[in-house]
Amino acid sequence: NQRIVLASRPAAEPTVDNFRLETVPVPELQDGQVLVRHHYLSLDPYMRGRMSESKSYANPQPLGETMIGGTVGEVVATRSPHFAVGDHVVGMGGWQQYAVVDAAQRGLLRKVDTTHVPLSAYLGAVGMPGVTAWYGLTQIIAPKEGETVVVSAASGAVGGAVGQLAKKRGARAVGVAGGADKCRWVVDELGFDACVDYKAHADVRSLSQALKEACPNGIDGYFENVGGMVLDAVMQRANAFSRIAMCGMISGYNGVPIPMSAPQLILINRMKVQGFIVGEHMEHWPAALAELGQAVATGALKYRETVAPDLAAAPEAFLGLLKGKNFGKQLVKLI
Ligand code: NDP
Repeated sequence: NQRIVLASRPAAEPTVDNFRLETVPVPELQDGQVLVRHHYLSLDPYMRGRMSESKSYANPQPLGETMIGGTVGEVVATRSPHFAVGDHVVGMGGWQQYAVVDAAQRGLLRKVDTTHVPLSAYLGAVGMPGVTAWYGLTQIIAPKEGETVVVSAASGAVGGAVGQLAKKRGARAVGVAGGADKCRWVVDELGFDACVDYKAHADVRSLSQALKEACPNGIDGYFENVGGMVLDAVMQRANAFSRIAMCGMISGYNGVPIPMSAPQLILINRMKVQGFIVGEHMEHWPAALAELGQAVATGALKYRETVAPDLAAAPEAFLGLLKGKNFGKQLVKLI
C-alpha cells in the first residue's frame, strides 16, 4: 500500500518536501472491517489548514501519519455484513491506495450508486463541495428570483455548483475567476450570466467597475471563497440587505494577511455576513445530496475535473490547487 504522510509543517507556502511517499503493508482485516481500494482521492483547500499547527476549526494533521482526505473506491475484502465485495463507497480514506475501515462506525463509509452518477462525482458535485455550495447558497444567501448572486473561485468544485444552483432558483449568477479560459467556460458551459476575470484587474477600483457592468442591479448575495481584492470589490457593489456566505478565504491560507478595506459597508448596507463549516450541518446533507445527485444524473448540473495521474503526483497537484492551477474539481487517480 502506497501512502503519503505529512513529513513536516510548512512555514508559509507548502512545498513537496512537506510530504513523504511510503510503502507499508496492508493490515489484516478484523471482524467488522472492510478493505477499500481507492479509485480517486479528493484534494481540497482545507488540507492546507490541517498541515499547520495554528488555530483553526479542525485539529492539525499529525506528523508522520497518512494525510487526511476524501476518497472513493470499491470494497475488495470484507468482514462486515453491511458491505459486499464490489460495493462502491465514499469515505475519508486519506492519501493512500488502500484503507481498512471500521464499517460499524456510522458515517465512515457510505455506499454509493454509480448507475447514473460517475464514482468521482461523489467527491465533487455530489459530495462535500456540492453540499457546501448548496448550504451556503440556500441556507445563507437564500436568493429570491431576480436577485444577483456573485461567487468567487467560480470554476472550482464549490463555485461552479453555486452559480448553477442560483440560476435554478431564478437568480442572476455572476462568477469571478482567474483567467479568460476559466471565465469563458463558466459562462459557456455552466450557464452563468457573466464572469469577471479578476487577474485582468490591477486594483479594487478596476475590478469593482467590471463587477458593476456584470451586475447592473448590484449584488444581493456573495458566496465568498477567496478573500482579499475580490471581497473588497464585491463590497463596493453590495446592495442594502445583501448576504455574504463566508465559505473560504483561500488567498490567506498560506498566512498572508487579508485586510478588508471598507468593513463599514456591512453597517451602511445592513449586510448579513455568516461563516459556516459544511460538516457541522449534517441534517442538510440528505436534501442537498438528493438535489445534487438528481441534477448530475440528468445533466442539469455540470462540472469539470482535473485529475493527477497517480499518488506520487498528489503533492504537486495540491500545491497547484492553492495557486489556481486546477480547472474544476482536483482529483488524484489512485488505481
Ligand atoms: P477550487 O476547486 O475552487 O480550487 C481553489 C481555487 O481557488 C483555485 O482554482 C483558484 O481559482 C482559487 N484561488 C487560489 N488562490 C487564490 C488567490 N490567492 N486568490 C483568489 N483565488 C484563488 O476549490 P474548492 O471548490 O474545493 O473550494 C473553494 C473554497 O471553498 C475554498 O476557499 C475552500 O476552502 C472552501 N470550502 C469551504 C468549506 C466549508 O465548509 N466552509 C467546505 C469546502 C470548501 P482561480 O484560478 O479562479 O483563482
